[in-house]
Amino acid sequence: MVTCRDDPDTLTRFSTDESGLFQAEGLEAVYFPRSTAEVQELLREANARGVPVTVSGAGTGITGGRVATGGGWALATEDLREVGEHPGESISLEHYGRTFSLGVDRERREAWVPAGTPLDVLERMLPPGLFYPPDPTERTALLGASVATNASGARSFHYGATRQWVQGLTVVLPNGDSLRVERGEVRASVGEISFRGQAGQDYRLPLPRYCSPEMKNASALYCRPDMDLVDLFVGSEGLLGVITEVHLTLAELPAPILGELAFFETETQALDFADAVRAASQAGALTVLALEYFDGASLRFMSHPVLEGKAFGAAVFVELAGDLEQLDPLMDALEAHGMVEDWFADTPADLTEQREFRHSLPESINSYVRQHGSQKMGTDFVAPPGCFRELLAAYHAAGQRFRAAFARPGEHYVMFGHLGDYHLHVNFLTQNEAELALVRELYADLARQAVRLGGVISGEHGVGKKTVLVEGRRVPYLELMLGREGLREIARLKRALDTNLVLNLGNMVPKELYNEL
Ligand SMILES: Cc1cc2nc3c(=O)[nH]c(=O)nc-3n(C[C@H](O)[C@H](O)[C@H](O)COP(=O)(O)OP(=O)(O)OC[C@H]3O[C@@H](n4cnc5c(N)ncnc54)[C@H](O)[C@@H]3O)c2cc1C
Repeated sequence: MVTCRDDPDTLTRFSTDESGLFQAEGLEAVYFPRSTAEVQELLREANARGVPVTVSGAGTGITGGRVATGGGWALATEDLREVGEHPGESISLEHYGRTFSLGVDRERREAWVPAGTPLDVLERMLPPGLFYPPDPTERTALLGASVATNASGARSFHYGATRQWVQGLTVVLPNGDSLRVERGEVRASVGEISFRGQAGQDYRLPLPRYCSPEMKNASALYCRPDMDLVDLFVGSEGLLGVITEVHLTLAELPAPILGELAFFETETQALDFADAVRAASQAGALTVLALEYFDGASLRFMSHPVLEGKAFGAAVFVELAGDLEQLDPLMDALEAHGMVEDWFADTPADLTEQREFRHSLPESINSYVRQHGSQKMGTDFVAPPGCFRELLAAYHAAGQRFRAAFARPGEHYVMFGHLGDYHLHVNFLTQNEAELALVRELYADLARQAVRLGGVISGEHGVGKKTVLVEGRRVPYLELMLGREGLREIARLKRALDTNLVLNLGNMVPKELYNEL
């Protein structure tokens, strides 16, 4: 019997996610399966009774993906902590008062990890010298969910997103059948992808016709003509099944790691410096793990002795692997582009302090937002390399329009993030409904500009249940990028697998759209 809770505290805990923008409606119960078999049992029951099921990780998502807006049951994955059969050595850990287990093959640098493992716990469990590179800022996120959202972080500049590190998956399909698939076993052909479930049933899924761009991307189902089946599930936001276990590739910890936080008077100097570092990295002259940006407004939100009494225009953080003697290209770039001050870290304590300093920004912004009773709207768009500065100019134009329309003290927008991947987050900070209304308009307009430039509307947060207002009409967020027909194609694929439409309805594609098929 799968553990079930329907007390008010549990229902409340699962009624929203970190966005706070979406609320569950008619959530009846939360189920806590402990194994793949229990997930299967639950989904068979849901199909038999026609109950909608919404999958949940730790709830750190900011697009409402885990929120059961259509009622029914929530399926919590946090108790999926026991690893199944695997060829490696077994490791277990007591943490948060719970037992976690996984399998590792040190020589082959591979791990088999249950979906309910938080990323910070995974980090502690891996043998010394090995690590799992995707590093989304939220370390309490669960592994299964981070695969379902193709999460990424600062080091994705060097290591890529979650997708690159997923070797195989165990998935429970929406009808309760299951699948264990390794990369290289099943590939798409002539517009469809076919496979056989554990119960012997054959599935033929019609692939959407769009082609996912080769850039940092967490928007829509991944789709390419000869794609691997594993890639269809990575980033699928729970539409196609519940991930219960992940076969990961690991990396060797690079050593030593060095951190350079360089401050500049102007944005242009900072961007030119970053271009020079990127070029040195691409030429193999520097091993750059992360290349991150902070605008002047971001620096005003942060506190550290290095900032006291200063008013820098921008800063760039470069995380490197290598020896001090190999840093000439970095020194040259700093000198050529007018660095005015810097903070170089090469000891574990200093690197930790620098990391905490950088990670303090989102929380400082959130507490500012709470103090001012305001709302924040953050972009997640990625531009193609050649168009990044054009999108940046559009961000500034939008920010200035906002500032001009609502002149007042306090910040109107801050900009920071993954400059290496041309993926900045612009956070608009509104203080009342009128400001929010304008920002919503600006946001939708910027998303369309990102698409027009060949970019994507989500680099890491996913799409979930987000909508935008376009000329007074509420439009599914993903429609801005794929058009209505693109959404129908995703819906057709989903329905081929989820004939009763029970699992994670409302993510990427609104429920009503299934009636258009
Ligand atoms: C302060 C802050 C910083 C963040 N920084 C980053 C960042 O740097 N990079 C980044 O990528 N994201 C970031 N995020 C977003 C979020 O942390 C990630 O999307 C994360 O992967 C979500 O994990 P979760 O366990 O909280 O999942 P949830 O929010 O619970 O769920 C996310 C989605 O995955 C689905 N899902 C969950 N588990 C499964 C499963 N086992 N099988 C199938 N579907 C499943 C859910 O239905 C939902 O659609 C940030 C969020 C916050 C609040």
